[in-house]
Amino acid sequence: MQGSCLCGEIIFEVSEPIPALYQCHCSLCRKQTGATSNTAMAVNSNQLRWLSGQQLISTFKRETGFTSNFCSKCGSPVPNQIGNSQFIWVPAGLLETTAGLSVATHLFVDSRAAWEALPTNGKCFSEMPGLNEIVGFLYDQANT
Ligand SMILES: [Zn+2]
Ligand SMILES: [Zn+2]
Repeated sequence: MQGSCLCGEIIFEVSEPIPALYQCHCSLCRKQTGATSNTAMAVNSNQLRWLSGQQLISTFKRETGFTSNFCSKCGSPVPNQIGNSQFIWVPAGLLETTAGLSVATHLFVDSRAAWEALPTNGKCFSEMPGLNEIVGFLYDQANT
């Protein structure tokens, strides 16, 4: 499955197995996306392969560790490592395919904006459960 940024310079490929998606409604993800939440995939690092444009990636890191990698030409968020884990965050909106994908869980639901309705699809967590637990759940939920 391939993905690319808005200008098309950064292209990557995610190999199978493709997990289900999650949405994070925390205040940082709202700032980072400019929207209600972050819709993304978390995959093992060996499933991501860069095909072009990797030299255009800029990084912004908050003191607390929250990291946002983005295309320095068009500003699209691009995949980055989740903390020091073995997992890579992949913004779902960059993927060329949407078929077969679904949102299986919502994180930080209690932090969502007042103007956002409570999500009705998938399992909701008021905050963030353990990362390994969530990623395992998302792989289990793929294509079901
Ligand atoms: Zn770009
Ligand atoms: Zn978040």
